Amino acid sequence: MTEKRVYNFSAGPSMLPVAVLEKAAKQMLNYEGSGMSVMEMSHRSSSYLDIFEKTKGLLKKVMNVPDNYKIVFIQGGATQQFSMVPLNLLKNGKADYAITGAFSKKAAAEAKKYGDIHIVYDGSSYDFKHIPTQDELDLSKDASYLHICANNTIYGTEWKYVPETNGVPIIADMSSNILSKPVDVSKYGMIYAGAQKNMGIAGLGVAIIREDLLQDVAQTTPVLLDYKLMIKNDSMYNTPPAYAIYVLGLVLEWIDSLGGLEVMKERNEKKAKLVYDYLDQSTFYKAHSDKENRSLMNVTFTTPNKDLDAKFVKESIEAGMTNLKGHRSVGGIRASIYNAMPYEGVEKLVAFMKEFEENNR
Ligand code: PMP
Repeated sequence: MTEKRVYNFSAGPSMLPVAVLEKAAKQMLNYEGSGMSVMEMSHRSSSYLDIFEKTKGLLKKVMNVPDNYKIVFIQGGATQQFSMVPLNLLKNGKADYAITGAFSKKAAAEAKKYGDIHIVYDGSSYDFKHIPTQDELDLSKDASYLHICANNTIYGTEWKYVPETNGVPIIADMSSNILSKPVDVSKYGMIYAGAQKNMGIAGLGVAIIREDLLQDVAQTTPVLLDYKLMIKNDSMYNTPPAYAIYVLGLVLEWIDSLGGLEVMKERNEKKAKLVYDYLDQSTFYKAHSDKENRSLMNVTFTTPNKDLDAKFVKESIEAGMTNLKGHRSVGGIRASIYNAMPYEGVEKLVAFMKEFEENNR
C-alpha cells in the first residue's frame, strides 16, 4: 500500500504519519472489539469517551500544559478562533494585533468588528519576509491581549521568541507549527490551531486557554462560540468532531512514542537545515524570508523567474512530489515539511532542486 504514496508537500491538509494511517485503517471497521468504527460511535458512549479523555490527556502530556489551562476542541478550524478570541477575551474593548502574514491580517480584520484594535506591527510593505523584533513592536499598555501568528504558513516565517508584553496575555495562532517543537505554554494566555497540519485532519480546532482569562460573553454570542460554555460542557455542548479528535489522539500517540516534542524539534531542524543550506549556497534559487525568521515548517523560495517556477512544479509532480506550488497570493515554491514529512522526502526534494538547477541555469 505504501509504495504508491507520494511525498506530499501540501501546506494543509497535509501528510499524516503512515503509522497513524495504518492504525486508523486497522481500526476502521471494528474499534478495539466494539464492533463498530469510531465514525459510527455515539460521542457519549464509553468507548468514545475513553478516546476523548486519552486524547486530551496526551495533548496535556506532550505539550506539558499547566493545570491552570483548559483544553477545548471546537469545530470551525482556526478561522473560527479569529472570531471567538475577540468575542470572549476583549476585556476593555481593546486588543493588540501583529500582522505578519495573511492569517494574522484576517484575524485582525475579524477582531475589528468587535473592538478597538491596535496594529503593533504590519509587515505587508516588506512582503511579509520579516518577523518584528521586540523593539519593532508598538505595544499598548492597556490591551486585553496581544495576538500573534506563531508561524506564517504562506510566507514561511516563524516567531523565534515570545514577546515581552508586561503582563498582557499573548494569544498565538499556532496552526502551522503546533507540536513541531516544545513550547512553554505558561508564556501564553491562549494557544490555538486548526488540526489539519501537525495535529491530524480538518474539522477540528484546538484551543488551550488560561483559566483566569475566561469571562462571561455578551448575551448575543452564539452558544458554540462561548469558551466558558464549551469548557463547562467539556467540548461536548453538541456533537464534537469525533473522528478528527480520534485522529489527533493517534498523532499524539505517535509523537509520544518517538520521544515527544524535543524529538520532533530535532527532526524538523534537521529537515529544514537540509533545504535552507542548499538554498543559501545556490545562486539560482532565492529564499523568500529573512534568514533569522525562517520557518521550520514552510520553506518558501523562488527560481529565477515565474516560467521556471511553473516548470519546477510540473516536473516535481512527475518526480513523485506534490503540492510544491507556492500560495496563489505569493507564487514561487513552498515546501511544507511538517512532522509527518520523512527526512527522505526532503532529501528527494533537495536532489530534485539540484538537478533542476543544473538543467535550467
Ligand atoms: N492560521 C494559520 C496560520 C493557517 O495556516 C491557517 C490555514 N492554513 C488558518 C489560520 C486558517 O485555518 P482554517 O482553514 O482551519 O480555518
